[in-house]
Amino acid sequence: MQVSLINYTPNPELTIVAAARSSASQSTIEELRHKLSPRQINDLLKQLLDSGHLSPFEHASFTFSIEGISRVTSHQLVRHRLASYTQQSQRYVPLKEHHYVTPPTMSRQTDLLAKYQRAVENAHELYSQMLEAGIPAEDARYVLPQATETQLVMTMNARELLHACSLRLCLRAQWEIVELFERIKAEVERVAPRLGAELKPKCYRLGHCDEPESCGIFPTLKSKVEAK
Ligand SMILES: Cc1cc2nc3c(=O)[nH]c(=O)nc-3n(C[C@H](O)[C@H](O)[C@H](O)COP(=O)(O)OP(=O)(O)OC[C@H]3O[C@@H](n4cnc5c(N)ncnc54)[C@H](O)[C@@H]3O)c2cc1C
Repeated sequence: MQVSLINYTPNPELTIVAAARSSASQSTIEELRHKLSPRQINDLLKQLLDSGHLSPFEHASFTFSIEGISRVTSHQLVRHRLASYTQQSQRYVPLKEHHYVTPPTMSRQTDLLAKYQRAVENAHELYSQMLEAGIPAEDARYVLPQATETQLVMTMNARELLHACSLRLCLRAQWEIVELFERIKAEVERVAPRLGAELKPKCYRLGHCDEPESCGIFPTLKSKVEAK
């Protein structure tokens, strides 16, 4: 899997904080942008998050190129509706090379791994035969497994990144989408470290786990109440 930040709002943290400040200031936005110190930016970002005043986070956007994830994971990803996606089409781009994802659980079971690889490769073989027989790629793709790799471009604003990371960095989410969002977080941290540090599972903000079972980082609300 490769994730690269290919574009983003310049000075994303300053943009968010200056926008938030502008609602209650006589200064122009440009003046505010020059006045705010790194310390103030830090404190204001925290204040906005603590108070749940999240709309200013919509002013900073991040565009990622994402390659080598399975169709399982791209399907989960696009459920996040407040983002923009452009995915390589299986209708217009016939697959020449067949790359697919192997879950780590499979890699530990050598017998099953061999069967899994054979099943996927057989599907790919049939796909290629169908293309050669003149079946259009849009129809031949019906035989491709969900393991098939895909690539896409995604643009998400910082508010939606906070939300999606709160769900997808939770260890109850599936390993591949957790890895994807860990890489997304790392890319954001490179250019906006304070914002990047806030991209974390929801339990960090709640102070408890709201899943039926905790991974151990925070207790569930039920066990927290019972312990009192
Ligand atoms: C661990 C896990 C397991 C899951 N299992 C399943 C499953 O079994 N089956 C399944 O179908 N899905 C499943 N999902 C997907 C899940 O139901 C959501 O579709 C996905 O996480 C997108 O989240 P969202 O809807 O909060 O946010 P986004 O689409 O990212 O939207 C962000 C927020 O905007 C608001 N919003 C967006 N659109 C609307 C709207 N139309 N109306 C009102 N408010 C809106 C909501 O407040 C929403 O939380 C799972 C997700 C996770 C993390």
